Amino acid sequence: MSDRVFRIAFSTLGCKLNFAETSSFQEHLPEGFEIVPFSTPADIYVINTCTVTEQADKKGRNMISKAYRTNSSARIVVTGCQSQMAAGKLIQLPGVALVLGNEEKFYLMEYLERLISSGTAEGINVGERSGISAFFPAVSYSGRTRCFVKIQDGCDHFCAYCIVPYARGKSRSASVADVLEMVKKAESRGVKEIVLTGVNIGDFGKGTGESLAGLLRRLLSETSVPRIRLGSVEPELLSCEIIRLVAEEIRLMPHFHIPLQSGCDRTLKAMKRKYGRELVSDLIHEIKNVVPGAFIGADIIAGFPGESNDDFNETLSFISSLELSALHVFPYSVRPGTEAAESESQVPHAVKEERKKKLIELSEKIKDTFFVQNTGLCRPVLVERMIAGERAQGFTDNYIPVVMEAGDSRIRNTIVKVRLTGNAGDGKMKGEIAE
Ligand code: SF4
Repeated sequence: MSDRVFRIAFSTLGCKLNFAETSSFQEHLPEGFEIVPFSTPADIYVINTCTVTEQADKKGRNMISKAYRTNSSARIVVTGCQSQMAAGKLIQLPGVALVLGNEEKFYLMEYLERLISSGTAEGINVGERSGISAFFPAVSYSGRTRCFVKIQDGCDHFCAYCIVPYARGKSRSASVADVLEMVKKAESRGVKEIVLTGVNIGDFGKGTGESLAGLLRRLLSETSVPRIRLGSVEPELLSCEIIRLVAEEIRLMPHFHIPLQSGCDRTLKAMKRKYGRELVSDLIHEIKNVVPGAFIGADIIAGFPGESNDDFNETLSFISSLELSALHVFPYSVRPGTEAAESESQVPHAVKEERKKKLIELSEKIKDTFFVQNTGLCRPVLVERMIAGERAQGFTDNYIPVVMEAGDSRIRNTIVKVRLTGNAGDGKMKGEIAE
């Protein structure tokens, strides 16, 4: 390889998994590369894409043209889910030299070295979805206080609206030993919180005899990282064993994120989801009984094909009947290749937007209620950053973003007891350091 130093810039779109994977690409960069900000001229741009919605695809194309505008002689490398699903379109975009699929992207370093030494790695390198089988561990060290640890990849569920199984392949996971190694390394770097992430982490250990609950027990007994947070877990895979473990163990964060998607059984069935309203309401009751202060977030899709006004109103009233803490609202996005994309009963855009608006309003209301319930309480906060020197920001154990007067910037990356004093607006609470 030449003595020249190549400027390389990275951009990541989509989920925590993508951020963990980009972080691992940067961690394994060979000699001769210098990472520069994406907004500055670079010799190579690497864009790790997402394709979960039409919007995500658009963002991917925008990032490519932004890189090309910044340096039209650079070589652009596109990786990730959009590459896996639309390589032929991406390779035609100006500046794109290399398109890598979701398996090939883990050999990025080899491709980069060939790209800069002989230029022979150009073109499309995307394998069949059926061929995506290997598991590549990854950890994202964002700001060194909290990091996303990739424990699982792929999915076997094939929900009617979802492109992920087509883009990321079948469900597979790290071994408990691999995860322990990743977490111990993060701990040695001073990380105070790990977030267990994947496509379908409830499937962790599928076919290997290991399990998510088993992993949590080993992390508790064999590491001393102060905070362990679960990423999103499918409702039917969130076991009572895991909920009780969270209740018993102070290092397991009282925070659950559930991809609920709809509150109407007819719509859930059409989505090919593996549960109904009864399972979900029992689950939420169990959580609230066993872990009373827990934050329970839920994903909801607005305007799934065939969703009638009555179905939607059922969703609204079901959500209002549950003790949720906040919603992530997604307008249904047609994904070519999925079952729902073929449906004749697509919901008009204006109706979808109207339903999205109503769900967001409902989410604001339930979040305000959750903030009121926590006002006056003391919760441990991991201080992640200082704002304008005097103020600090971080998350409580039950996932409330908090701003507080701090005075001393050495407080960053420490866990402090904070009395929550009220709603600070902008989705945050105000707090004062209790000790
Ligand atoms: S569980 Fe369903 S929605 Fe989630 S990744 Fe798998 S197919 Fe997609």
